[in-house]
Amino acid sequence: MNTLLSVQNVRKHYDVRKGVLGKHYQVRAVDGVSFDVRRGEVFGIVGESGCGKSTLGRMICRLESITDGDIDLDGDSLAGISDRKMLQVRKKVQMIFQDPYSSLNPRMTVGDIVGEPFIVHKLAENNADRERKVLSLLNDVGLAAYHANRYPHEFSGGQRQRIGIARALAVRPKLIIADEPVSALDVSIQSQVLNLLNTIKKEYDLTFIFISHNLTVVEFFSDRIGVMYLGAMVEVAAKDALYRNPLHPYTQALMSAIPVMDPHKRKTRRLLEGTIPSAINPPSGCTFHTRCPHCMELCKTKAPLPKLISGEQYVCCHLYDK
Ligand code: SF4
Repeated sequence: MNTLLSVQNVRKHYDVRKGVLGKHYQVRAVDGVSFDVRRGEVFGIVGESGCGKSTLGRMICRLESITDGDIDLDGDSLAGISDRKMLQVRKKVQMIFQDPYSSLNPRMTVGDIVGEPFIVHKLAENNADRERKVLSLLNDVGLAAYHANRYPHEFSGGQRQRIGIARALAVRPKLIIADEPVSALDVSIQSQVLNLLNTIKKEYDLTFIFISHNLTVVEFFSDRIGVMYLGAMVEVAAKDALYRNPLHPYTQALMSAIPVMDPHKRKTRRLLEGTIPSAINPPSGCTFHTRCPHCMELCKTKAPLPKLISGEQYVCCHLYDK
């Protein structure tokens, strides 16, 4: 299995002005993240809201520019890529958003929404060919042909997400970035959409980056998982290893908070103190040290580097310094 995506030490910093004097600050939304995604796998990214996981996803789609570092997608470098070249590369990577309604133009019919990529990327021979392809996509995502003439507001949340999935599939992408694709849906609908994603993954030979704050959903769908905290990836491991033996204190706290129905399998819950610090002025050293129950003096001054512990499990924590 070879690498489709290589994210190399990427950063996304925003300049903002705050207060009556308009003082200048820098927000470090993503601050030096590296990981690879192999062809055909689902790479999950988890973390609390505000940890930078959605920004990272948008950078890989180039919906956000890259402040520093590089992203290699199937041989194309995305840092500094021209708009013209990005139009070609965009056929390789598509995004599915959390709120399908806000990402669908309410004035366009579903047929026009799903058919638009065929026009933008010149992927249909004529109108009849485009219509045939749109109906085929609607069928693949579980919608009927008559839905093509309706508008987004006429659909339920789950159906709207299916429309978003059909639109993403139109260009036959290699990589799909699904950013909280089911978190706005009712629990009963979530499993239907997850099953659909599983089916189209096989049928369209897709690779996924699956972004979510919900560890149960990520466990269901992912092969490997990266855990993000305050703009950095603190642990990366195969799913089974991560859920069986989380190493980073932050991952351990997240895992211990997963609800377990069986009282014999319940773990001691490790409550995290405080809230996630501001990305404007992140803590020195290990950025998790202000909330970590194992914090040492070293942690306050020196940022830990990623260490390979076993197999494919990497962790950024001084507890594992040799
Ligand atoms: Fe906790 Fe220190 Fe490890 Fe950071 S480096 S997670 S503060 S033990």
